[in-house]
Amino acid sequence: MKILLTLGLFVSAFILFSFHGNHSDGGQQTATNSKSEYLTQSVLWYEHSGEMRALYYQAYNLARFALDENLKGKEKTTKQKAVVMDIDETLLDNSPFEGRMILSGIEYTPSVWKEWLNKGCAKPLPGCLEFLNYAKSKKVEIFYISNRAENEMDSTLKNFAKFNFPCADKEHMLFRTDKNSSKETRRRHLLDINYEIVLLCGDNLGDVSAAFDNRQTDARLDSVDKYKTEFGKRFILIPNPMYGDWDKCFYKERKLNEQQKDSARKANVVAF
Ligand SMILES: [Mg+2]
Repeated sequence: MKILLTLGLFVSAFILFSFHGNHSDGGQQTATNSKSEYLTQSVLWYEHSGEMRALYYQAYNLARFALDENLKGKEKTTKQKAVVMDIDETLLDNSPFEGRMILSGIEYTPSVWKEWLNKGCAKPLPGCLEFLNYAKSKKVEIFYISNRAENEMDSTLKNFAKFNFPCADKEHMLFRTDKNSSKETRRRHLLDINYEIVLLCGDNLGDVSAAFDNRQTDARLDSVDKYKTEFGKRFILIPNPMYGDWDKCFYKERKLNEQQKDSARKANVVAF
């Protein structure tokens, strides 16, 4: 009887501790998994799909046609023509940084981003160098307007030099100098110093016009409809499923943990 009682207590304690252990691990796993699940598919598509590569070629082939069109009849105007390029996920492939976040289960941290930048090895995205060199051959100035911080300029230039990007110098880099992520002031600066911007390329709507700086989903969609004739003409947009203002829309500027973000994303899924 005594043996049976002791055995019963032992089994009960085992079940209790097993349950507690699984429960706490399960919570952590859910948070980590929601982050991984969210990013893994996007990063795999970005790194391995032929569709991604084709879409980049398509965007830059279109950019070349659009540039030719936009330069027509402007030969005699005095203003120097310029194209404005975003950098991250428009020209440089940072998907290995996203991959690091997935495999190590970490969130974005400035030190890991800096570690990646300092390597200076992000690869040029398909078709971008051909387009940039074509623009240069047409005597069009190239400006890189990026929300990288000014203290990330040297590592960016090192990366550009590694792959022979044209106009890779500080004069052609307009990086973020304050907390304002809008690129409008920097675009206006180019107009003020007498450039005519004939084409803008980016993976985020805010890369091409301040009309898209409002981060509310409906406002962005309305603006896209309003400017629909500009896409493929003056604005060249490239798909980025990994991150962007499009996914920040779901969080409405709130500081959420991964589980809350997961819930916010799922709350926005349209289903029948
Ligand atoms: Mg970008």
